[in-house]
Amino acid sequence: MTRKILIIEDEPGVADTLLYALKTEGFQPIWCDTGSEGLKALDEQGIDLVILDIGLPDGNGFEFFREIRGKHSVPVIFLTARSEEVDRVLGLELGGDDYVTKPFSPREVTARVKAVLRRISGGKDASKTSSSRFQVDEDRKRIAFFGTALELSRYEYRILRALIRRPGMVFKREVLMELAWDVPDISGLRTVDTHIKTIRHKLREIRSDSDPIRTHRGFGYSLEEDS
Ligand code: CA
Repeated sequence: MTRKILIIEDEPGVADTLLYALKTEGFQPIWCDTGSEGLKALDEQGIDLVILDIGLPDGNGFEFFREIRGKHSVPVIFLTARSEEVDRVLGLELGGDDYVTKPFSPREVTARVKAVLRRISGGKDASKTSSSRFQVDEDRKRIAFFGTALELSRYEYRILRALIRRPGMVFKREVLMELAWDVPDISGLRTVDTHIKTIRHKLREIRSDSDPIRTHRGFGYSLEEDS
């Protein structure tokens, strides 16, 4: 079975290199040069993995990434051009995903593609992320805590899902905002704190003795790892 790899990249030179390298490795690459075209291809074709550039003519890769995640659990590898982007990419949840910094060698990218696909096929169903305490239902956008469904707003759901996917990882507030908000507003970082407070309250309503979200002063938040 040939794996379909969607390349969303506006620079023809970069795309050509990737198309050639992936074909050589036996993949079926598809190229779109805008984010919106890429989203359309994702809806219409069975895509196994996405290679997503961050600087796109019709938006940035983070925005498209959020849109992709809203609908699909397909793995995404980011192409980043600047080192300051790497920080944000690293903060993204997405078990199984990865990033490559430009300039890259075609061999490096195909190696990452193979590694991610291997991880996915050997791993768990990406649409169901669970720990002993939390059950995430990506299709219904619902999270249960000790078997009881939480009533979460959209942002609360996205924040908590990000934390659950990477237990122990400290998420900066900027990163949580990037992941959860449709239009991130870095000047309003305190609203992240407010949402965390509400989530904590909702968790306590189910288990009064449980407070799995850790505050890291000056850094951000993490979810306690399952013991
Ligand atoms: Ca670009």
